Amino acid sequence: MNTNILVYAERLRSGIPGIVYELLGKARALAEAHGSDISVLLPGPATEEEVASFGAAHRVLIVEHDAATSPTPEGMLQSVHDAAALTQPGLLLMPATTLASDVAALFAADTGARLVTNCIDFDITHDGITACSRQYGGKILVDVLVDSTPAVLCVLAGAFQEQEGCVTGTPSPVKLPSPVLPDQRMRATRFIPPAPGDVDLAQMPVLLSVGRGIQNKENIGIVEELASKLNGAVCASRPVIDQGWLPLTRQIGRSGLMVKPRVYMAFGISGAPEHVEGMKDAGLIIAINTDRTAPIFNVAHYGVAADALDVVPALLEALENVVQHT
Ligand SMILES: Cc1cc2nc3c(=O)[nH]c(=O)nc-3n(C[C@H](O)[C@H](O)[C@H](O)COP(=O)(O)OP(=O)(O)OC[C@H]3O[C@@H](n4cnc5c(N)ncnc54)[C@H](O)[C@@H]3O)c2cc1C
Repeated sequence: MNTNILVYAERLRSGIPGIVYELLGKARALAEAHGSDISVLLPGPATEEEVASFGAAHRVLIVEHDAATSPTPEGMLQSVHDAAALTQPGLLLMPATTLASDVAALFAADTGARLVTNCIDFDITHDGITACSRQYGGKILVDVLVDSTPAVLCVLAGAFQEQEGCVTGTPSPVKLPSPVLPDQRMRATRFIPPAPGDVDLAQMPVLLSVGRGIQNKENIGIVEELASKLNGAVCASRPVIDQGWLPLTRQIGRSGLMVKPRVYMAFGISGAPEHVEGMKDAGLIIAINTDRTAPIFNVAHYGVAADALDVVPALLEALENVVQHT
């Protein structure tokens, strides 16, 4: 079976997103098991540091054209075709972002390749490529077998460990010719920045998560205060979102985001499997819950059996003392 892997490195204004390195980490593990050849397609212009950051790959295909800096699905499609023609992938890995998902769908339609969206895991087996896909907002997980190549997989952020793919090295840079683009039916005309105050939870090293135990919307205020002192952000379990106390973008879990911060503090969260799925890989998990039998303590590194509404002010006070004495 063709086990060559092509990873599409989407370029955002903020840089290369972590999901690209997650994909590379997984590709690296597959290469160790199956001897896969790994290529990265990077919309340029690319710096030497960026190319070196793809050390997990054998080569980096750089393509420079207008559509790379102001990308549209149609604009990027031609580059994916060029990269695929050069590397003959058995597996094309795309981040499950809006743009890359569109490019993946167009590529699959053009070539007849099998496409699996919203993947949270995948593997190469004797029978073909297996993938686990999260569907209907996380309500069901579907195991898929793709028995022909190439398989095109759109993978959700948080599926794998980002640091596994953060390997510096000397992959060969290969310049792809700037594609002659057809008349594009869609053009990016302006960039609308995200609403101020909204944060990319996947990038935050410290997350303070509130559950139903926080009791009401007003109580989230002191957790916000603590989060700002710790350079972190506030997120939540589903009931908090369902009540409208925080926006949907802050939900962690099966039907929300998967996150891997360095520190995850869970205030009044029971630890239902659907929530734990989204945070279990955090570096350090600290749970605060009045019920010492709450399942969250099974995944926590440190647990405090106490009222979150006592613990948060106590932490704020302790931090204040630290600041005063330094
Ligand atoms: C298909 C599906 C998808 C789902 N997706 C998600 C998802 O993405 N994310 C998600 O979170 N859930 C999801 N859920 C819901 C999930 O099953 C749980 O219902 C939810 O996670 C429970 O949230 P919670 O822990 O905040 O609330 P509860 O389970 O009600 O727990 C509240 C906890 O707070 C503690 N507590 C109460 N008062 C205090 C206090 N003063 N101080 C400290 N602790 C206190 C209690 O002891 C309790 O353990 C999903 C469910 C389904 C069926």
